Amino acid sequence: MSEPPAGRLVGRLVVLGVSGSIAAYKAPDLVRLLQAEGAEVVALLTPSAERFVARLALEALTRHVVDGDVLGLLPDGRIGHIVAADSADVVVVAPATAHWLASMANGLAGDVVTATCLATSAPVVVAPAMDGEMYAHPATMANVARLRDGFGYRIVEPERGPLASGQSGLGRLAALPSIVDAVVAAAAGAPIRAADPAARPPLAGLPREADLTGRHLVVTAGGTAEPIDPVRIITNRSSGRMGVAVAEAALDRGARVTLIAAGVAVPLPDRATVIRTESTADLRATLLAAIGDRGEPARFDALVMAAAVSDFRPARPAPSKLARGERLTIELEPTPDILAEVHRIVAGLDVDGGTTRSAVLPRPILVGFAAETGSLDRAAAKLARKGLDFLVANDVAEPGSGFGTATNQVTIFRPDAPPDPWPLLPKREVADRLLDLVARRLDERDAADQTGRTAAMGAAAPAARRTEEIER
Ligand code: C5P
Repeated sequence: MSEPPAGRLVGRLVVLGVSGSIAAYKAPDLVRLLQAEGAEVVALLTPSAERFVARLALEALTRHVVDGDVLGLLPDGRIGHIVAADSADVVVVAPATAHWLASMANGLAGDVVTATCLATSAPVVVAPAMDGEMYAHPATMANVARLRDGFGYRIVEPERGPLASGQSGLGRLAALPSIVDAVVAAAAGAPIRAADPAARPPLAGLPREADLTGRHLVVTAGGTAEPIDPVRIITNRSSGRMGVAVAEAALDRGARVTLIAAGVAVPLPDRATVIRTESTADLRATLLAAIGDRGEPARFDALVMAAAVSDFRPARPAPSKLARGERLTIELEPTPDILAEVHRIVAGLDVDGGTTRSAVLPRPILVGFAAETGSLDRAAAKLARKGLDFLVANDVAEPGSGFGTATNQVTIFRPDAPPDPWPLLPKREVADRLLDLVARRLDERDAADQTGRTAAMGAAAPAARRTEEIER
């Protein structure tokens, strides 16, 4: 599997201001390209841009409320252009019309995009697009020069080519990758800020359907604790927030949830069936009991293994409290890899990889998490070794990502697609996006099973007819 893309905008919040040129239809593609670089994107529309590009399209792609009204308030009561201005790492205006350039050059905050640019201290990138004559007009040239030389904005010059008027000239919106490169250059060098979700633009309350109704999800959360003696333990920094967010999101989408909680620092949802565990051995026994055994029909549709399971434990926990002494050496032994074991059970594999046992059907979806520090190099191998459908990997050393934080920046590894780095997001949003993948995969599984059954019946029918014919 190839390496994850470098993600030149990971951890950055890019505010995309769209004004009313025909090139506004390219805004969703620009959002995609910025997101592919790892950016979280928030879109703003001028009133005329709303006539070219649907707010819903941008909300669905960015998952953020799209602000289009300089006088209105956001759904949560805050002032949209101030929130956007304060949280932006870069503001990019693409396309920028002649009218917008003129407003900006004169500081006329009549729309949400100019107001945001006035209010922000972030770098601003401007990509003009208009008819060739309009762009060549001295008024436009002077406005562009003012933005560039007076305000320090980066101008991504338009290109020569066919225009909406049917004529050809210098005025086409620059190629989207050049705009992305300008955003990357504008962001370069500034430290990545630890995102405070409460200060960021609000997420769009896009209704996630009850697409997990009738499904049973088993979710593990929190850090295991391995006894050294009856008093002391070896544990880790997991708060359980990510697993609990997955459990809550699944419940909200109609799933039945069994939540197996190790050490957690957050409240547990009472709508879930919660089973508390402590050590890796407890968690393993509880999980194996919850998921059933080989040869039985599946008792669960998906396992999301968000628990931080200890990889080592004291080989011989002391039966009574160890006394103070000069020095203590504790021998650690590896714990069993629970997820790999669940994979073997589900796939009907023997310990040596043979297939003398029956698989669990219909096949449950397996999701693992991998907390790494410094690089995600080991993630692809983990995905394969544990037989997972999805592995959610993150670098817990990055700011705003990992243990105890409210946000997470993860990369999704899967066997059938290249690694997909997601922007820094609230953990609940990571959970929902992950469940989007799980719900889709479950639907595909069921559709494939249905097709398989229909095909099997179709194959059986001619055979039955043949038997009838012989008897007659
Ligand atoms: O190999 P690593 O510990 O990074 O793998 C992480 C994933 O495997 C997590 O989903 C974790 O819950 C699971 N795991 C497990 N059994 C272990 C260690 C980790 O199931 N002994």
